[in-house]
Amino acid sequence: MDPKHIHIDERLVDTGCVYCGCLLVDAIDLDRLRAEGPAGSLDEAVSRQRTRDHVPSRAFLDRPFPPNLPVVECCRSCNNGFSLDEQYLACLLECVVCGGVEPEFFERERVARMLRDSATLRERLASARRSFDGGTAWEMESERVSHVVVKLARGHAAFEHQRHYPAPDSISITPLVGMSEDERIRFESGGSGTRLLPEVGSRALTRAALTAGTSGWEDVQPGRYRYASTIYADGFSVRLVIREYLACEAWWNEPG
Ligand SMILES: [Zn+2]
Repeated sequence: MDPKHIHIDERLVDTGCVYCGCLLVDAIDLDRLRAEGPAGSLDEAVSRQRTRDHVPSRAFLDRPFPPNLPVVECCRSCNNGFSLDEQYLACLLECVVCGGVEPEFFERERVARMLRDSATLRERLASARRSFDGGTAWEMESERVSHVVVKLARGHAAFEHQRHYPAPDSISITPLVGMSEDERIRFESGGSGTRLLPEVGSRALTRAALTAGTSGWEDVQPGRYRYASTIYADGFSVRLVIREYLACEAWWNEPG
């Protein structure tokens, strides 16, 4: 059984925007507001329009996209608010992995196109490159990267557990290659704390049953994006790896 197509507990559906928690407005209600609503109420309602957001964003994936990509519901304002930062992170990672800001050397054509289309982003990334004897390093805009990682983690948490998650209590963002052997083992296998089973009716429970005895990672697209969520007795973790380079973990102090 594909966990993306399971019956979902109705109590957990439609809890508002998975990112900001606002009440979502359907297109039919916007039409009514356009026709007869009080002046000034439309803009606010449009910002809360119900939209669907892929988690992960397709900026991190290549065509052909995997079938049945996880999707969550969010407001138009949140949906639009992440795209520039997601584009920035996808381009930064391609620069790091391919060793330059020249799109012609990029492996991912989709990202090369993004960079060709944005002179501003190209200049910004070029100025983030630091060359030194024997190597190149890249300065990461931490706030933008954190913005994306928190969004991705909350999206995965909401999709797996069908409920709204607040911002995580902490996040870590580290290149896989920068980890020690112990850190890498711990990251790949998850923490050693007591693990709990997800709630009945959640995708996470179905996935736990399906992946018993495996690594537990959901490989959305090999080499591009994978994630894993784990509930412990003392908290909840979402781990994700972008471009098989950037390892991120979000942690909530309350179990899921
Ligand atoms: Zn929102």
